[in-house]
Amino acid sequence: MNVTKGTIGWIEVICGPMFSGKSEELIRRLRRAEIARQRVQIFKPAIDRRYAQDQIVSHSDLRIRSEAVADASELEARVDRRTEVIGVDEGQFLGAGLVDTATRLADMGKRVLIAGLDTDYLGRPFHPMPELLAVADEIVKTLAICMQCGNPAKHTQRLVASNDLIMVGAEGMYEARCRRCFEPDLAAMPTGSAAAGAGRA
Ligand code: ADP
Ligand code: ZN
Repeated sequence: MNVTKGTIGWIEVICGPMFSGKSEELIRRLRRAEIARQRVQIFKPAIDRRYAQDQIVSHSDLRIRSEAVADASELEARVDRRTEVIGVDEGQFLGAGLVDTATRLADMGKRVLIAGLDTDYLGRPFHPMPELLAVADEIVKTLAICMQCGNPAKHTQRLVASNDLIMVGAEGMYEARCRRCFEPDLAAMPTGSAAAGAGRA
């Protein structure tokens, strides 16, 4: 969305599985806002400590500075009144409050961009992303490449056995899979057999 009259806020959601380019797309949009000399604030959940605490880092190593927050209410409290564009990565980790927070910020006239996983390791909708899709003005779904067969991939395959919904990790622990190759039961297998099973086509 580029052409607007006056200050109108809106919500853009970028969702898809891991490795599908959500962070790259978020960073690309935020950089363009910075080039346009808009005031930009960028947030990510403190839970995501994989790389830097003060940066969003894509799997292709694009980086942009960010502030780590515990949840949506801390995010909202940190937003400067003058901020025009707000970027959020890993929205699925910021809690149900993110829906109201995003709506309030957009109603104040701010542009809110949120990237996050649309489904979890079992293929279930990952809250609050479904609710954010419902209140969004614009939605983009990104697909990865299936690591088994090369088809477009909409699933995040967990390769290690764990029933925890949140298990932060990347290469080695998760891979992108298409519908046909997705095996949610793998995550429930004991360690070892899960890794062995991950190799089959
Ligand atoms: P996301 O935020 O959705 O996890 P990123 O933006 O961090 O994705 O990373 C996307 C990049 O990951 C791609 O441009 C590519 O370089 C790399 N990549 C690694 N594995 C895959 C895969 N299976 N499919 C697509 N891209 C992949
Ligand atoms: Zn596949």
